[in-house]
Amino acid sequence: MNTLNRPTPDLIAKLSAIVGADYALTEHEQQLPYLREWRDKYFGKTPVVLRPGSVDEVAEILKLANEARVGVVPQGGNTGLVGGQIPFEAGEEIVVSTERLNRIRQIDAAGGYMVVEAGLTLAEVQAAALEAGALFPLSLAAEGSCRIGGNLASNAGGVQVLAYGNARDLTLGLEVVLADGRIWDGLRALKKDNTGYDLKQLFVGSEGTLGIITAAVLKLFPKTVETATAFAALPDLRSVQRLFEGARAVAGTSLTAFEFMSGWCLDIVTTHMPGTRRPLEGEAPWYVLVEISKGTSDGAAEAIMEQLLTGALESGDVLDAVVAASLDQAAQLWKLREDMPEAQKFEGGSIKHDISVPVAAIPDFVERADPVIQTVCPGVRPVVFGHFGDGNLHYNITQPVGMDKAAYLELWDRMNEAVHTLVAQMDGSISAEHGIGRMKREALKRFRPAVEIDMMRAVKAALDPRGILNPGKVI
Ligand code: FAD
Ligand code: ZN
Repeated sequence: MNTLNRPTPDLIAKLSAIVGADYALTEHEQQLPYLREWRDKYFGKTPVVLRPGSVDEVAEILKLANEARVGVVPQGGNTGLVGGQIPFEAGEEIVVSTERLNRIRQIDAAGGYMVVEAGLTLAEVQAAALEAGALFPLSLAAEGSCRIGGNLASNAGGVQVLAYGNARDLTLGLEVVLADGRIWDGLRALKKDNTGYDLKQLFVGSEGTLGIITAAVLKLFPKTVETATAFAALPDLRSVQRLFEGARAVAGTSLTAFEFMSGWCLDIVTTHMPGTRRPLEGEAPWYVLVEISKGTSDGAAEAIMEQLLTGALESGDVLDAVVAASLDQAAQLWKLREDMPEAQKFEGGSIKHDISVPVAAIPDFVERADPVIQTVCPGVRPVVFGHFGDGNLHYNITQPVGMDKAAYLELWDRMNEAVHTLVAQMDGSISAEHGIGRMKREALKRFRPAVEIDMMRAVKAALDPRGILNPGKVI
């Protein structure tokens, strides 16, 4: 059992001297943005938030913290949804923010890679790639705030996973500061490299528990030139599934997104979010957003989309559909999907699940989950949306109308347990995107085999023997 120490005033002074007084935040007011997470679910304390400006400074910080046995919480853009980036309430851990590690070290569009530092926001990385004439396809609603190091540490997914894979698939190399302060330069840009264990993959998705990622080599792709975006209304989830299979068949790897949402999701997003409106007349039980992208400008993307929708309208799988006629219209359709996390807040308390099941099992899951959640709390309203093509549902459950919010949120663990049990029965995952952090630690132990937890503990002990990195998170 590792015991950690509370940082002494002397240690805090030494750590602050590494980054310089301007970049060591000790005042509560200055610290606030680093201590509260997006959903207001966790609110932590720390004696100091350090904002190092170089890899060497990160290394010096970890060396000292390791010697002193003091806990360190790495933080990127603070958009994580499982509390991983927030220190505990006891105020015994220091926070290390990567936001000043924000240089683009190299872009080689022809070579298909870029080398970036961890603190760039995802939007900055995307923009730099575009400017160089290439595409960095990772894309999610938090992209203006989340930072690429955080994306890698949480193996972010998002809306383009279908075609390009998640953060893990987009990583060629990493630079990481280890718990003891040693710097691992694994910034290799090789597509093929079978020299022993693939160490970079240990750090991707490790949520700050194995090392601090300071830079990465990311894969770049040819820019898409033409995109067809459609929004369609469907009568049931089997139809959604057939449309997905049809889309894959006609579009192949050009199918870059296949997102879905329930009729009620469209209601709440168009009711509460300014600048949104219903794109189709009437109401339907399900809606999907389909995107087909091509590297050529010969109308191929639109032709494929038309072929897909015409067939589906004839068969009755699609009731009605609209294809965006401009980039502006496409952005409006995307906004309906991207505003979903925000829109739910207006309907009261929400108990969230970020789960995946095999794609073919989605209709079954949604059918079977409803009586399960109604048993835990009669009258709850499921907000079902997500990345259909990845089998990933944001199965969020909104409180019954008129119920006290706090009383509802007290059911969080019971509701999670009920939903996760069903997910496990259906061979799914209790965390498809957001990770384990602090929120799902117990669930990880409960829903993963003991031998898997043992292997994770062995890796943790090998790379962080004193347990200073993000203590109390993940395992
Ligand atoms: P943080 O929140 O700062 O940290 C997340 C975790 O990574 C923490 O455990 C932290 O300790 C660790 N960490 C951060 N930086 C480093 C580093 N440099 N080295 C080591 N560890 C580090 N996630 C998805 O996967 N798909 C989505 O579609 C998606 N949509 C979202 C939409 C909204 C509106 C919001 C608020 C969040 C969404 N998320 C999504 C979750 C979140 O944005 C992503 O997980 C994101 O990748 C986190 O990046 P961050 O920089 O904010 O990390
Ligand atoms: Zn998502």
